[in-house]
Amino acid sequence: MGTLKPVARAALNRKAFRKPISEYISGRIQWNDASLKEVKKLIRALLRVEQAETCPYCQRLIIPERRNVSEHIEHFLDKSKDKYRKFAFSATNLVLSCQGCNVEKGTRDLIGHGKAPPTYLTAAEAPFRWPHPYFDDMASCIQKDPGPVYSVIPGSGRELEATQLIGDLKLNEIQNLETRHGKLFMRQTRLMRILARLARKNDERSRGRMVPLVLELDKVTRELQ
Ligand SMILES: [Zn+2]
Repeated sequence: MGTLKPVARAALNRKAFRKPISEYISGRIQWNDASLKEVKKLIRALLRVEQAETCPYCQRLIIPERRNVSEHIEHFLDKSKDKYRKFAFSATNLVLSCQGCNVEKGTRDLIGHGKAPPTYLTAAEAPFRWPHPYFDDMASCIQKDPGPVYSVIPGSGRELEATQLIGDLKLNEIQNLETRHGKLFMRQTRLMRILARLARKNDERSRGRMVPLVLELDKVTRELQ
């Protein structure tokens, strides 16, 4: 996967978004304010491509069904804490995470106890409690084996942080693995049904609709292995 590139900057630098962003940072409006809808939409679109639709924490496909529900703009440093509110629109603080990781992360503080909040969110502030998706290569820190079963890769220099991430997000707990597997299996079944229906129709429009569905089925099937 490599480290992520801060692609959200392209959205954040737009003139039209400056006012709502500064209003949010100063506390005049809240995260769900309608004036932030467009900038959030653009951030999501940019991150989806950069992350290849994969959650940077668990390195798994973000299941596309009910996209707006299952795909969260996630703040590495929690925006609900006053000290990190200024990073709510910092490109290196924004990722899309899967619902499972978003829920488990909650409002956890990823800066160690007693450490002052950073002025800028740069690689110079590392290490954090977990490997950082923009400053550390997750795939070099955490091995995801089929199953999936997670383990710390020795020699990355982020062994402690990787251990904390796996533990905090409960990535190896059987209950989470089974829920995830069940959702993927249901999605696979549904995709196959839709594809069969389109194949039976077999007109030009149906064939066109099949292409993205076949690609998605391929992704889902690989995730299940
Ligand atoms: Zn995840």
